[in-house]
Amino acid sequence: MITRDDHVHSSFSSDCTSPMEEQVRAAIAAGLTEITFTEHLDMDAPYTNVPAGEALDFRIDYDAYREELNFLKVRYADRIQIHMGLELGLNASLSPALEEYVRTHRFDYIIGSTHSCGGMDPYYDSFFEGRTAEQAFRAYFETALANVKTCPFFDSYGHLDYVLRYGPDKADGSDEQHTAEYYYALFGDLIDPILYELILNGKALELNTGALSRGFPEPNPCAAILRRYHDLGGVMVTVGSDAHTPENIGAHMDTAARILHGCGFDSYYSFEERTPIRHPL
Ligand SMILES: [Zn+2]
Ligand SMILES: [Zn+2]
Repeated sequence: MITRDDHVHSSFSSDCTSPMEEQVRAAIAAGLTEITFTEHLDMDAPYTNVPAGEALDFRIDYDAYREELNFLKVRYADRIQIHMGLELGLNASLSPALEEYVRTHRFDYIIGSTHSCGGMDPYYDSFFEGRTAEQAFRAYFETALANVKTCPFFDSYGHLDYVLRYGPDKADGSDEQHTAEYYYALFGDLIDPILYELILNGKALELNTGALSRGFPEPNPCAAILRRYHDLGGVMVTVGSDAHTPENIGAHMDTAARILHGCGFDSYYSFEERTPIRHPL
């Protein structure tokens, strides 16, 4: 049973309007005993393909974030444990700046995510213009592999195949051909080296349930990738909802536990002061 959520945003992330206290109260109402805020820092944002007027800067006010979190930590200490994390947007060309930031700021836990590819955000259709969905997905996984190799400043790699949610042939379960498994088979030559890189460097892989809340049939990454990580020797999986709103906090943790069991895992992990902690499933 999973009674914690280690991927939660609040209004300290520029794409989230939910106040941190509202998120904490929702976590308590959902029966969670621990929660980790993982606010966004994407140094390469805004991206070139974001429509005018929609660009967000994805910077973080570290001092204000720490102050509010510490206040709530004390206020709700008898009901929930609150931890301070970061979702760091990885980008090989910014590796020294990312390393410097992580070295000079304290966090319990850092998720490393690939949110951009070639300066573009895959969330927008323009990422797929002028090429097939397969070509676009391949470019994304090539970037993810380069990021994992050059920016090892994180504890767990976030939502590995989330690009499959987007584009014209998205793995949304609406047709039998374009499943997450289908794409894993297609891009295994890039996904396997990402998994090896994580395992060899003692990094965890995140099971992100956000896609389930959006109605997709699989979490990110899909079960086929989680199973492959396990079979290659991967042990550490972290779990989070990626909630940007109170109703998604702690969502689909039972499904996550069931999937992990099915892939051969008997435990999952969280991080405190950048140190892994094992929890039996
Ligand atoms: Zn993310
Ligand atoms: Zn997130």
